[in-house]
Amino acid sequence: MVKKAVILAGGMGSRLRERTKDHPKGFIKIDNLSIVEQSILKLIEAGIETIIIGTGYLSEQYDQLSLKYPQIQCVRNNDYEHTGSMYTLCNLKNHVSEDFLLLESDLIYEKKALGILINHKERDVILASGFTHSNDEVFIETDENNLLVNMSKNSGELKDLHSELTGITKLSIETFKVMCDFAESIFPENKQLDYETALVGISSQRNIYVHKLQDFVWCEIDNEDHLLRAEKYIYPMITLKDKNFPPVKRNVLLNPGPATTTDTVKYAQIVPDICPREEEFGAVMETITGELTRLVANPDNYSCVLFGGSGTAAVESTLSSVIGNDAVLIINNGAYGKRMCQIAKTYNLNYIEYNSSSYEAIDLLSLEQTIQHCSKKISHLCVVHNETTTGLLNDINAIGGLCKKHQIQLIVDAMSSFAAIPIDMDVMNISYLVASSNKNLQAMAGVSFVIARTEDLDNTEHIPARNFYLHLYSQYKYFLETKQMRFTPPVQTLYALKQAIVELNIEGIKRRYERYSKAWEVLINGITQLGLTYLVQKEHQSKIITAIVEPSIETYKFEEMHDYFYRKGYTIYPGKPGIEDTFRIANIGDITCKDMELFITMLENYLRSIGYLPERNEKNGFSKA
Ligand SMILES: *Cc1c(COP(=O)(O)O)cnc(C)c1O
Repeated sequence: MVKKAVILAGGMGSRLRERTKDHPKGFIKIDNLSIVEQSILKLIEAGIETIIIGTGYLSEQYDQLSLKYPQIQCVRNNDYEHTGSMYTLCNLKNHVSEDFLLLESDLIYEKKALGILINHKERDVILASGFTHSNDEVFIETDENNLLVNMSKNSGELKDLHSELTGITKLSIETFKVMCDFAESIFPENKQLDYETALVGISSQRNIYVHKLQDFVWCEIDNEDHLLRAEKYIYPMITLKDKNFPPVKRNVLLNPGPATTTDTVKYAQIVPDICPREEEFGAVMETITGELTRLVANPDNYSCVLFGGSGTAAVESTLSSVIGNDAVLIINNGAYGKRMCQIAKTYNLNYIEYNSSSYEAIDLLSLEQTIQHCSKKISHLCVVHNETTTGLLNDINAIGGLCKKHQIQLIVDAMSSFAAIPIDMDVMNISYLVASSNKNLQAMAGVSFVIARTEDLDNTEHIPARNFYLHLYSQYKYFLETKQMRFTPPVQTLYALKQAIVELNIEGIKRRYERYSKAWEVLINGITQLGLTYLVQKEHQSKIITAIVEPSIETYKFEEMHDYFYRKGYTIYPGKPGIEDTFRIANIGDITCKDMELFITMLENYLRSIGYLPERNEKNGFSKA
C-alpha cells in the first residue's frame, strides 16, 4: 500500500504573474482554500501518511504550511530558478525509499484518482484522462497494452493520441531511481528537464502503465484562463463528483426533450433547503441568466428573463408582452409555428400567418414579398429555429437579414436548437430568443427563458399588459431590482440547470453539436441501410431530430415499437399528426453515437420481428430467436 506522496512545487508560475508575485502557484485559492491544501486534504483522506513537497520559489510559505500538517516535509531545490521539475524531483532522492504518488502542485482533481492509483495492481501508473481541450494539454501515446510510448504538447508529434496527462502518477522506487539516473546523465547539458520527458526517456527500460479515466475531471492552473475555467466550471464539477453519489439507472431518451441527463445534473438538485428569496439563491439565478446570455450574445446588450414553466410559457410570455398594436408575421411550417399562431389568436394579436412546407426550406423571396405587400405595418416576425415537428432547420441568418432590411424585430423559438446549434443573436439580428432547460441544455424540465436585446425589451414597458403571471417586462424588471423571480421559482430545477451549464461549458456548444451530429450520422446511415427514409432532405436537417417515414407494412404499429424499445431502456417518439406518417428520433442529451448504434441494432431486430426485413439467414451465424 502506497503511503507516500510527492508534490512538485518548485516552479515560479510565471504565467500567473500577478497572482504568483507573493505566493507560489499552489497557494492560489478556490472557494477560500489554496489548491495545494485541497490536494493535501485529499491525499490524507486517501491514507497517505507522508507528503514530501519539493519546494523552491517562496519555499518559506510551504514551510509555514508544514506546521499545520505533521504529514508534510519540505525539501527545497535551491537552484529552482534555473532548473526544471525533474531536478526538483531528483533533489528528493534521499527522502524517498518506497513507492509514492507524484503530483503537481497546481492541480485540482477528483479525489477518486488517488484511490485508483493507490490500489492499482501496476506499480508505475500514469493517470490519464479523456481530452479536455484546455489548450495546454500534454497528449499521451501508448502501445496496445496501454504502456507509455511518448508524450507531447504537440499532438502532431505523436502517432496516436491515447489520452491526456493529468499530472497524477504512481512511481515505484525502482523506476524513480532509473529516472534519476537518466536525468543525471542529461543535467550537465540541460537542467531544465521536466519529469514528463524523463518518464518518456526511461519508458523503453521500464513499463509505465497509462490508466485512462475517460470522464475524469481535473485541471491544471497555469494561466488566467485556466483559473477562470477552474473556478467557474471544473471546481463545481469536482465538488459534486467527490460526493460519490450512487449511479442512477440510465435511460436513453430519443424523444426531443426532456433529454437524458448526467448523474451530476440529477444530483445537483440535492441541496439544503433554501428560501428562493435569499441572496444566496439570487446569486444562483444571476449566474444562470448571465451564463445563458453569454452562450448566444453579449450580456452588456442582452438580458435573460427566467420563468418557472415549460418552454411554451416563455413563448407565450414573449408573444403576449412585446407586440403592440402593429402586426406580427408568424411563419408556420410545423406544429411549433402553428402553436405561436394559436397563442397570437388567444391574445387577439394582429397576426398574419405565413404558411410554408414542413419539410422544405422557406421560400425567402415569397416571404419578402409577403412583407412588402402587407397592408399593415409589421413590427415583429416569429419563426422556429429548429422545427421539432420534422427536424427542419430554418435559416435564421437569412430571415434576420430580411428583418433588418424591413426594420422588423425578430422573435425566434430556439427551444430545440439552443445550446447545440451555435447562435449569435447580434449577427443573426434576433431581438428575442426563447428556449428551455430540458432539451440541449441537458437539464431538468421546469425552467424556460427569454433572451432579449435589452434595448428592445426596455421599449416594451409602455405596452399595456395582456396578462399577469407571464408578463415579460414585469418579470425582467423585478429580477433586475431584487434578484428574485416574481413568484416561486422551481428551486432545485434551477440548481440542476446551473450544473448543466457548467457541463455545457466544459464540453462547449461546438463540441456538443459535433457529438450530436455524429449520433445523427449513425442514425441516418442506419435507417437508410434498413430501407427506411426520412422526411426532410439531409441539407435542411437540424441533425437534432429526424422524422422517419414509418415502414409500410400492416404488422407495424408505433405503440408496439415504442413498447419494444421502452422495455430496453430506450424511448422513441411518435410523429406529429397531419404531415406524413412518421415517427421521430431525437439525438440530444447525454448520449453518444454508441447509444445510437445500439438503437439501430434494436431497430433492425424489431423490423425483422414484424417481417419488414427478412429473417436472419442461418449461414450468417444468426438464427431466429
Ligand atoms: C419543445 C419545444 C417547445 C416547448 O414545448 P414545452 O412542452 O412547452 O416545453 C416549443 N417550441 C419548440 C420548437 C420545441 O421543440
